[in-house]
Amino acid sequence: MGKRICRSYGQQTHKARLLKKQSVRTATSLSHGGTGGPSFFQRLPVEVLHIILDQLSVLEMSVFSMVSKEITKYVLDYISSQKWRNKTIIQSFHPSACPEQKCTVEHYRHLGLLYKRCTLLLPTKDRLKLIFSKFSQIPCFMLEQCLVPGCTAFVSFGVFLKTLIAGWDELESHRVFNCLCVVTNLMQKTEGIITAKPGVQPHRELQLRLFCRCVLLDPWANQPECQFWLTQLLKPWPMVSQAHLLFILYGPLQPGGILGWQDVVERALTPGSLWSLAEAISFLFGKPELKGWTTPLMFSIVMELTAVPEPWHLENLARFLLLCGNHVSYTVLASKALFGHVSEVSRLIIYIILVCEKDGYHMSWVVNIVQQIFKVFSTSTERFFFIQHLENSFSQLTREICESIAENQAEDREMLFILLESSARFHTKFLHTLLK
Ligand SMILES: [Zn+2]
Repeated sequence: MGKRICRSYGQQTHKARLLKKQSVRTATSLSHGGTGGPSFFQRLPVEVLHIILDQLSVLEMSVFSMVSKEITKYVLDYISSQKWRNKTIIQSFHPSACPEQKCTVEHYRHLGLLYKRCTLLLPTKDRLKLIFSKFSQIPCFMLEQCLVPGCTAFVSFGVFLKTLIAGWDELESHRVFNCLCVVTNLMQKTEGIITAKPGVQPHRELQLRLFCRCVLLDPWANQPECQFWLTQLLKPWPMVSQAHLLFILYGPLQPGGILGWQDVVERALTPGSLWSLAEAISFLFGKPELKGWTTPLMFSIVMELTAVPEPWHLENLARFLLLCGNHVSYTVLASKALFGHVSEVSRLIIYIILVCEKDGYHMSWVVNIVQQIFKVFSTSTERFFFIQHLENSFSQLTREICESIAENQAEDREMLFILLESSARFHTKFLHTLLK
């Protein structure tokens, strides 16, 4: 752990640099303390030292704490006092304190640096115990302790934690996760939520989502650490519960902030609604060989996920696959085809074509996928059967929409036009690819 002393600690203020310079001289004299008697700081009454430390900002103190082992100890003692904690660990997380919220998040970034630097020489276990014992006393940082809408404590906690553990290796990160689980009771709370029926505990589901997203996942967006934390959250549970938990973490929300469990089943959602969920799947299975997230597991999770709480509306499933990309789409369609579900695959492909037309994706992507699925079938009879099903699905969906229009479902008129246009575009591209 001691080798971290050599790392860069980011920008320092002029005042902090001066302090450091001064203190380096003090530290030099301390190193000769064996012959020179007590150091300058040792000679100071503790009250005077505290008056000096009182003048420093959190960031300055974090720099000062790195001057020598002795100074680190002084700073650690100082910030362990109730007086300092009452003054410095601010808790303006609620919307009434709105103008301060950005400052609060920044303040927690500085606190993360301070704790990172002044606990540098302690073993990881002791560092975490010391830090979490302090911060677990803040009710807004704990799961299900604060129900004030718009509370930003989890965001501040996430920024604090990221700053604190940036650069830590995987073993140390495992310790952080275990410590966090003990302090927040995360595993027991997660189990209580994912084993219940979806949507019966909406506020608990939302608390779990906010905590995991703000504290562990979102601060590391698009970084390998995000995959690490997501794996820690999912790994303890069976595959069905993993799918359930993924929906809680990344599923679409209703305007009121509650998870849209029924929305995915009952109606086609807006194009952006499933983006986060698709991104999480792509992220998890981006490098399966590294983390044990295999293709068969991916197929099973996607199948479970898109059947929670009941099988999704086909347009949502089609859009979700499209957003997940080529690998996931091909795996799902090809696996279904191999299991003999040709009608289901054909109808799903028609919806993918429809979504391509609606959302403006290039039709050549679907043509390519259809060609790949075509090759999954080994005999010419099976291949003909597949194409026949595909064309029949076009006719069947057209007929269904026409019947719906006849029943005065006026909004389906536009759907029919889109379907006809998508059909024309798909067949144009398909024939062009075959004939050239
Ligand atoms: Zn709160």
